[in-house]
Amino acid sequence: MNSAQAKPELLMPAGNFDKLKYAFAYGADAVYAGVPVFSLRARENDFTKEVLEEAIEYSHARGRRIYLTMNIYAHNIKIERFLSAFCEMADLQPDGFIMTDPGLINKAMKLRPESVIHLSTQANATNWATVEFWRDMGVKRIILPRELSIHEIATIRDNVPEIELEAFVHGAICIAYSGRCLISNYVNHRDANQGTCTNSCRWEYNLSVDKDSLLETEMNRPAPEKDYEPLAAKYKITEAQRAEQNFIAAQFELDEDEHGTYMMNSKDLCAVELLGDMRAAGICSFKAEGRSKSIYYASIVSRAYRRAIDDLAAGRPFDKNNLKELIGTANRTLMTGFLNRKPHEYGENFEDGNSLPLTHRFAGVVRDYNPADGTALVDIKNRMDLGDTLEWITPEKTVPVKVERLLKPNGASVQAAHAGLQYRLPAPFEPDEFTIIRQVLKDAGHRDAG
Ligand code: SF4
Repeated sequence: MNSAQAKPELLMPAGNFDKLKYAFAYGADAVYAGVPVFSLRARENDFTKEVLEEAIEYSHARGRRIYLTMNIYAHNIKIERFLSAFCEMADLQPDGFIMTDPGLINKAMKLRPESVIHLSTQANATNWATVEFWRDMGVKRIILPRELSIHEIATIRDNVPEIELEAFVHGAICIAYSGRCLISNYVNHRDANQGTCTNSCRWEYNLSVDKDSLLETEMNRPAPEKDYEPLAAKYKITEAQRAEQNFIAAQFELDEDEHGTYMMNSKDLCAVELLGDMRAAGICSFKAEGRSKSIYYASIVSRAYRRAIDDLAAGRPFDKNNLKELIGTANRTLMTGFLNRKPHEYGENFEDGNSLPLTHRFAGVVRDYNPADGTALVDIKNRMDLGDTLEWITPEKTVPVKVERLLKPNGASVQAAHAGLQYRLPAPFEPDEFTIIRQVLKDAGHRDAG
């Protein structure tokens, strides 16, 4: 695909085979999946070679594409194993490899010149000269860093028009430079660049003054007439779950409430309203982050972006329902990232570090349907009670319905269904293989969703 094509690709994360199937059912053109050990979401990855082989066949049988992620920055000890895994994966004939490390890209291209290489966002190709370099190296597509504005993307396209440009439109953002980050490494000995980030930037930190000496502390207080003056006193940063560790002794100006301070916690990206501008700037692939997210996320995000891309290609105006649907997935507050303007302090969520459901919550996955009594067997994901309002969702429709009956698999009626178990629910229509259910939250989220 090149940037002149009318309809850009919708590229969704596939944390496992099940999520891959839902992403395709709900509209993805392509998915990316991690190769065990050699991708930056190594912890969430349950793809074995055999499963990947099946996933590639599944994708191609449906006319879809699958890219394999092998985007670590390797230390010497990993080079040999990496290249041998790369050759094994190349034999499976995926549609491309997402890679970062220049040395490994060079070696991989020599070993398998027929393989298509996409440059990972982790490589930080932030300007056209760098993109030109990678084009000359033989890389087919650049996955642009999230730190670029639409204007900068257009300049890259103008200078290197023949290369494919892919950009993130949805999902988490690192507070560090596209993941080039040592926070997790520093506080938890888990290296983000080797696929083992623990999201340490989102933990709940507390700040306290080192009170070894009252005299020293008082002497170093700023004079009251000054608005702000850096303190010379030693500050300690502790984390709620790891109170025994003092991570950093430093001088910062920080606010904190009774819960602490989420001083490095980025809001999440949502560029669904900017797809037209991004396409005009030369983006040929719109990518969502979130390999560790749920089937619900894979489905709803796929469906919302599918509809937005189809509307864009058909010249229809933007449908605000697509944004509402995205707000209906758990998030850390959505923003448009760096695409329109630099977010500065607006880009951080200082209130809480977790992805929270604000308007809807994943309720269940339909596993089976009995046409004789009209009930569906459902894997319950979050507790539901009689009287709750649910929405039954397929790739085509959303049907609201009140819970009036909940049955155990043996037919016994109950008042509530509990997460992790299976129950039967009266279905408002004959569900298909990919029907999911969400709950409409009575007490919609406390924070600004957009
Ligand atoms: S600790 Fe945070 S900023 Fe660093 S790589 Fe992990 S998610 Fe990104």
